[in-house]
Amino acid sequence: MSDFFDPYNADRPLMMKCSCGREHTVADHHAEVAADSAAIELRRRSETAEFEAYSNEFIEATLVKALFPQDEMRRRFLRAVGKGTAMAAIASVLPVTSLQALAQEAGTKKGTLEKTNLKVGFIPITCATPLIMAHPLGFYSKQGLNVEVTKTAGWALVRDKMINKEYDASHFLSPMPLAISLGLGSNATPMNVATIQNINGQAITLSLKHKDNRDPKNWKGFKFGIPFDYSIHNFLLRYYLAEAGLNPDTDVQLRVIPPAEMVANLRAGNIDGFLGPDPFNQRAVFDEVGFIHVLTKDLWNGHPCCAFGTSTEFIQKNPNTFAALYRAVLTSAAMARDPKNRELIAKVIAPSQYLNQPEAVLTQVLTGRFADGLGKIQTVPDRADFDPMPWQSMAVWMLTQMQRWGYIKGEVNYQQIAEKVFLITDARKHMKELGQPFAAGPGYAKHTIMGKVFDPAKPAEYLKSFAIQKAA
Ligand SMILES: [Zn+2]
Ligand SMILES: [Zn+2]
Repeated sequence: MSDFFDPYNADRPLMMKCSCGREHTVADHHAEVAADSAAIELRRRSETAEFEAYSNEFIEATLVKALFPQDEMRRRFLRAVGKGTAMAAIASVLPVTSLQALAQEAGTKKGTLEKTNLKVGFIPITCATPLIMAHPLGFYSKQGLNVEVTKTAGWALVRDKMINKEYDASHFLSPMPLAISLGLGSNATPMNVATIQNINGQAITLSLKHKDNRDPKNWKGFKFGIPFDYSIHNFLLRYYLAEAGLNPDTDVQLRVIPPAEMVANLRAGNIDGFLGPDPFNQRAVFDEVGFIHVLTKDLWNGHPCCAFGTSTEFIQKNPNTFAALYRAVLTSAAMARDPKNRELIAKVIAPSQYLNQPEAVLTQVLTGRFADGLGKIQTVPDRADFDPMPWQSMAVWMLTQMQRWGYIKGEVNYQQIAEKVFLITDARKHMKELGQPFAAGPGYAKHTIMGKVFDPAKPAEYLKSFAIQKAA
């Protein structure tokens, strides 16, 4: 302590602020110093030829996977047209590839960017890691952008600031752009999911008093926190409870609570548990008020959670700026995906202007080696992951759940909405021009949720198969 405040120095006034001159605590000072040196190391890694090659391959592989959700199809196509043609085709059809080229140019030719000063919103949770760390790592500025990443208190505020155009782009819960585009809970404003930020990375955390009550069948009367109605958290918790025979609308109470307030509500006994984002599941364990009952990875491995997106209007008015932004966030996702970077990333996002959390909590979340609050250390490397691919089939699944629980009434044109909001755009049309039939279209894959396969080609049938849903 004395080296910061220097209370025994007769030649200096005793200032109750940090010796660096700023008004922050010693702990904050240490967190910032650690964050700075971690950011320097990560930046160094990002400038190596190895990372650049990895990053480009990562983005390309993401795209190819989008076009060929079934590997069989990919191989058939490559055999039919050859690698060169396939690569040219992909470059010409998917926005990301052409955006990538555009954005690379943008860094050198600044005149091509329509707008360079941008405000990007985020909620302080680990889901937003790629979007946040792109700032201290210099990925935005490398693209010629001056981005202010702005911490936001809750999801309703994110929605409002996007609709009011106070933010140029934002961290969203991935169902939010669907809901906003459909005018659910707000005026209808066309929004897009440009990339998924993170997959997995959430959990059901329960109060320690329920340590011996692990069977959801016995949870009648429980109160749960969820971050927002239009969240994967709400849909997964409802799904999980309904599989156990509980009606989430009548057998339990679900309360919308901003993520940062979940642990305090658990401690105060206002809720029995929450299905929330990290680091708050781990923070509940760290604070000894809760335990991790189940990771959402174990309900739906690879489920989408948060997204990076903006309004359709912004993309139309600022295509080059959007491209540059896209490139920065994808580069960041490539870096966040690599497990060897995770410990340093925890340091970079820990300080008060970002997550404002103990580094030890973030390290446990990001490395997947964590205390579960029940006395065990678990090792789950893919507890949280960063896969940017915005599967349209995931959007279709979200729409089925919005219908199931009464957020959307009446008929839904699943594919049309999914393809309008989740950007993988024209790929199908262009592949057709190449004589390649895509029955299901790119961007659609089957997903397995709690052991049950969801086929995006049959959403209505899927919806009908659930015994528990909101009474029509
Ligand atoms: Zn200081
Ligand atoms: Zn999330």
